[in-house]
Amino acid sequence: MREPVIACIALGANLGDAKQAVTDAMAAIHRLPATRVQARSRLWRSAPVEAQGPDFINAVVRVETRLDAMALLAALQGIEQAAGRERPYVNAPRTLDLDLLLYGDGCIASPKLTVPHPRMMGRAFVLRPLAEVAPGRVGTAQLEAVAGQVIEAM
Ligand code: AMP
Repeated sequence: MREPVIACIALGANLGDAKQAVTDAMAAIHRLPATRVQARSRLWRSAPVEAQGPDFINAVVRVETRLDAMALLAALQGIEQAAGRERPYVNAPRTLDLDLLLYGDGCIASPKLTVPHPRMMGRAFVLRPLAEVAPGRVGTAQLEAVAGQVIEAM
């Protein structure tokens, strides 16, 4: 069996009971095969960026997993589907969005998966919860760069 890898996953939701959707998704990630959640950030509230609808609830979890990166992505997409996610148009409001931010120290550039996640830098709603669960992976300068973005810990 492969060696365990530390991965970080961003969670976001802005439809229905978004807080419940994010909390449920954390539990669903913990139930994935060969995967356990090691740390959960607080829940954060942020205004939509390049998206529409109500405020988002955001969080990040740090997991230890023996799934390879593609299997982990597929499993996360399964959790999104189970939460009733539809994609009627790009950046539509979403019941649940799960993004694989980091997979060990790996860099992956395949048609289906880019890691580190290409849009994680420059976004307070990703970097601030990520800094709570993986402080060594977020620099002070990166946090300072997003300090002007309005985001509130719940
Ligand atoms: P989204 O609409 O934001 O959920 O984007 C989902 C699409 O992004 C899927 O087709 C994934 O294959 C692709 N994707 C590429 N890199 C990642 C990543 N690091 N985490 C999640 N989805 C990714």
